[in-house]
Amino acid sequence: MTSERPSLGTIRVVSLYDDVMSVYADRGNLLALQHRAAVLGVGVEVTRVSLGDALPVEADLLLIGGGQDREQRRIAQELATRGPKLRAWAADDVAMLAVCGGFQLFGHWYRDGQGELLPGIGLFDVTTVAPGPGWARCIGDVLAISTLDDVGEVVGFENHGGRTYLGPAARPFARVEHGFGNNGADGTEGCVYREAIGTYLHGSVLPKNLALLDHLIEAALRHRYGRDVRIAWEQDLYAARAHHAAAEVARRRAPRFEGVARP
Ligand code: GLN
Repeated sequence: MTSERPSLGTIRVVSLYDDVMSVYADRGNLLALQHRAAVLGVGVEVTRVSLGDALPVEADLLLIGGGQDREQRRIAQELATRGPKLRAWAADDVAMLAVCGGFQLFGHWYRDGQGELLPGIGLFDVTTVAPGPGWARCIGDVLAISTLDDVGEVVGFENHGGRTYLGPAARPFARVEHGFGNNGADGTEGCVYREAIGTYLHGSVLPKNLALLDHLIEAALRHRYGRDVRIAWEQDLYAARAHHAAAEVARRRAPRFEGVARP
C-alpha cells in the first residue's frame, strides 16, 4: 500500500554542465534526487545549464559532476564568468554538490596534469595541483566520516590525479578512514562552505548515501521556504544495501588511511 504524503513544496535544481562533466555516472546524482524527492513528497524543477546557456535567476540546489582535465579545460573559462553569481548563491545558502573535477574548479584554481593553470570560482577555499608524470593517481573505494553530524559515514569511489589542499577558511566535508581523499596526506575529504559541499566521491555518490541526499534536499527546502524543514525519514532498502556493500568493499580493499603521503 502506498502512503500519501503531504507535498513539502518544490525545489529548483540546476544541473550544471552535465553533458560535459559526468564521469563515473555522476549524472546519477540527479536521478537519485528526483527519485528520493518523489518518495518524500518534494517536487523538483530541473534546469540543465551547459556551455552557452544562462543560469536561471534563482535556484535552491546546484549539482555539478566530475570530468577529466580535458573536460575541465572546456568549461573552466566560462565557469569563471559565472563565479560571482555562484558565489552569491552559495553565500545565500543555496545547496550545492560539486564532485571531483567540478569540486576542483569550485576552488581557487587547478594546475592540471600538463601544468596548465585553470581558473576556479573560489567558492571553496581550496587549491588543487596535479603533480604530473611519475605520481600515481588516487584511485579506489573510499569510506569517510562526514563532519556534518546528520550525514555520518559516507562511501564512494575516487579517481583523481589532482591533490586538493584546504585553505585556512576551509572546513573538510569528511575525514578519511579508507582511501585517499583530498590529497592522500592530511586525511581530509572534500570541503563544506555553508550549504555547499565539494567531494571526490563518485559512485554516483547520492544513491548510496541517503543521509547526504536528504541533507541536500532539506537545505534546498530551507532555501526556498525559509523555515526549518525536516523531512520525515523514509527507509530505502536499496540505498541502505548499496551503502553497506560499498562500505564493506572499501574496508576490505582500500588502504586504511594512516596519515602518510602516498605518491
Ligand atoms: N581531472 C581531475 C583529476 O584527475 C578530476 C578527475 C575526475 O573528475 N574524476 O584530478
